[in-house]
Amino acid sequence: MAKKVLIVEDNELNLRLFRDLLEAHGAEVRTVRDAREALDAIRVFLPHLVIMDIQLPHISGVELIRMMKADSLLEDIPVMAVTAYAGKGDESRVREAGADSYVSKPISVSRFVLAVEDLAGPLGGGFVRAG
Ligand code: MN
Repeated sequence: MAKKVLIVEDNELNLRLFRDLLEAHGAEVRTVRDAREALDAIRVFLPHLVIMDIQLPHISGVELIRMMKADSLLEDIPVMAVTAYAGKGDESRVREAGADSYVSKPISVSRFVLAVEDLAGPLGGGFVRAG
């Protein structure tokens, strides 16, 4: 069974990059561009992992992570935060909200996939799609 990954990201280029990378490794991917739709989308899709941009309009990624961790249906879903922030205070703020890992932009492609599989396990469930 392919792993299900939900990406919350308002930047179209990053969103496509993450989605293409994960699909190339065999994951089943859903994407959310508007933070206000994120929690409903997570409840419906019930992914093995959420990749969460932190800088989002309307509701920040930190706030969304807090809301997930306060929801008994969603609290056990691992969250990988992705952010352009550089400061150490920002990383601890993201981790305190409940993020399981933290990757800074611009991402390293190989490290990104490793970090995802570290939380979700092998994405393709035993086979890698060609092409
Ligand atoms: Mn953003």
